[in-house]
Amino acid sequence: MGATSEPGVVVLGAGYAGLTCAHELTRAGRGRIPVTLVDRHPFHVLRTELYEVGRIARDPEHVEAWAVPFSKALDDLAITQEVGEVEAVDLAQRTVRVSGRTIAYRGLAICLGSIPAYYGVPGAETETNQVYRMGGAQRLATELRRIEADSARGPPEGRPRVVVIGGGSTGTEVAAEIATADWASIVGEPAKAPLVRLVTGKVPFLEGLPEGLVRHARRLLGKAGVELIEGKNVQRVARGEAHLEDGTSVPFDVAVWCAGVQAPPLVRNLPAAHGKAGRLLVTEHLELPEWPGVFGVGDVIEFKDPSTGMFVPATAQAALAEAPVAARNAIARLTGTPLKPFRYREKGVIVAVGVGRGAGKVGGVTVWGSPAALIAALQQKEYALRVRHPR
Ligand SMILES: Cc1cc2nc3c(=O)[nH]c(=O)nc-3n(C[C@H](O)[C@H](O)[C@H](O)COP(=O)(O)OP(=O)(O)OC[C@H]3O[C@@H](n4cnc5c(N)ncnc54)[C@H](O)[C@@H]3O)c2cc1C
Repeated sequence: MGATSEPGVVVLGAGYAGLTCAHELTRAGRGRIPVTLVDRHPFHVLRTELYEVGRIARDPEHVEAWAVPFSKALDDLAITQEVGEVEAVDLAQRTVRVSGRTIAYRGLAICLGSIPAYYGVPGAETETNQVYRMGGAQRLATELRRIEADSARGPPEGRPRVVVIGGGSTGTEVAAEIATADWASIVGEPAKAPLVRLVTGKVPFLEGLPEGLVRHARRLLGKAGVELIEGKNVQRVARGEAHLEDGTSVPFDVAVWCAGVQAPPLVRNLPAAHGKAGRLLVTEHLELPEWPGVFGVGDVIEFKDPSTGMFVPATAQAALAEAPVAARNAIARLTGTPLKPFRYREKGVIVAVGVGRGAGKVGGVTVWGSPAALIAALQQKEYALRVRHPR
């Protein structure tokens, strides 16, 4: 197979990291560097909104609500789009294979995101749903519609049972959303409010987030009627039952796995240094130390900011901050100019805790309830608007 495009910078993945990186490459490169953006979808997924399974359940096929087509996201920017599956990356030959086609590159940005980590727990992958990918969120929304519609026709005391596994921000957001969504209006029948249990596992609930946020999130979850089961890991998931390590079990009609993410297999298998969960270790220029001109951005990397000694979190906020730096450094490699280091300053963090509610810390101030939800909604809207109207 021969190379099919003029070598420039190839960006793998059009999520928060990849889309921003491609934009910055065209902007900072003033259109002089060919940029190719590759993704398996012809659209950019607003992944941070995928916990909103109540909203998705209103019409699971209405993809435009949480995905922006490339025709809009790339407008008439000078970016070549390649829709297909990234199947292989040959770092020595400087080529990537996308759905059977070979593309040569001079610079590469690996922005392939993350996939669920099941930690070898039997049944976790087959018996649970997930919201880390759009298809997963759509399937979960469809399942929830089904059990809610059944509850409308079933015995009066029978509430649908949902178990959410994972006590980080994704698990918290999903559990609270399911508990507070207006299911009767969503399914158009007198559906019953589901009984939602959140199994946080051995890791402390919302570990790593500010104490005030955690306190308010706990209180809001209680108000939403979510039952917290803390301190016990899930050992096995069978059909309709999550077995915990203390011998007890949690019955469910629908289970959701939110216990963490890892690098995709393609990234794990690259001949480069890896950190936890198969993430790529990068220099402070976000470059792979062994492969000059190859950069990692977003969920695929592990990077400890030397100025704070803290690991940069796997969040959209971090991916959006890293991408312009990686893009400019990719250009610097091609033009022989000095590379700039990446430094991370978190702007704040907000966790949605039920429809119209949230808890967070922004600019050093703890916010909760509807103001927190409003700030988060405005941030999401601002980002989505920017992606839909890139110029
Ligand atoms: C429910 C939920 C809520 C979240 N909320 C927040 C939040 O409020 N704030 C926040 O900052 N972060 C949040 N996050 C985390 C955030 O979504 C991720 O950190 C972010 O998406 C990482 O960006 P990325 O570009 O690295 O990966 P992604 O956005 O996942 O993009 C990766 C892209 O690569 C593509 N891809 C992957 N493999 C292949 C392949 N082999 N071939 C072709 N294409 C491929 C995918 O299709 C995708 O478009 C949330 C995550 C979830 C799941």
